[in-house]
Amino acid sequence: MTRPPFDLVTDRDIALVSAQLGRPARDVVGIAARCVCGAPTVVATAPRLSDGTPFPTFYYLTHPAATAAISYLEATQVMNEFNALLAEDDDLRESYRQAHESFLFDREQVGTALEIAGISSGGMPVRVKCLHALAAHSLAAGTGVNPIGDLALARAAWSPTVCECQGSTNEKPDEGSRGNTQTDGRATDDTGHP
Ligand SMILES: [Zn+2]
Repeated sequence: MTRPPFDLVTDRDIALVSAQLGRPARDVVGIAARCVCGAPTVVATAPRLSDGTPFPTFYYLTHPAATAAISYLEATQVMNEFNALLAEDDDLRESYRQAHESFLFDREQVGTALEIAGISSGGMPVRVKCLHALAAHSLAAGTGVNPIGDLALARAAWSPTVCECQGSTNEKPDEGSRGNTQTDGRATDDTGHP
């Protein structure tokens, strides 16, 4: 897990992330979390892409096995469960609000974009809208910062301590169904890919 300031991103890291995503990785400012083998699992992306687009999803889950495991949770109504938890648990709601502030603080270390001021990711601070973004935040920040991201990782059939990198890029045509479907947590359903 790594929060800003990040080490310089290497060409090898960018190549690995591009292979994971199945397209060129853009505007990556740091590798925020890695698999036990060293491969990136979460990238940090500039708040404003080089083409000018504001990009709120500072922490972005890139690892195919991780995104597939989180997509499975989303497909099995786990977000409804977590939204219900948020609604009934004052302490959880406050922790989640603090996670939102922590996320924004991290992003501001790298840069700002007026269009996304106060807008974080994944539905924070009051809703659960994208478990990929929340899990990515937890992987970057470590356990105890984002309670919903922590819950998602605890439920996921993937762990950064067990390497599933071998052959798990999105490049293989027969794995199209495991594509990266995460959204960026904006009000729209834009996919927000970096
Ligand atoms: Zn690995």
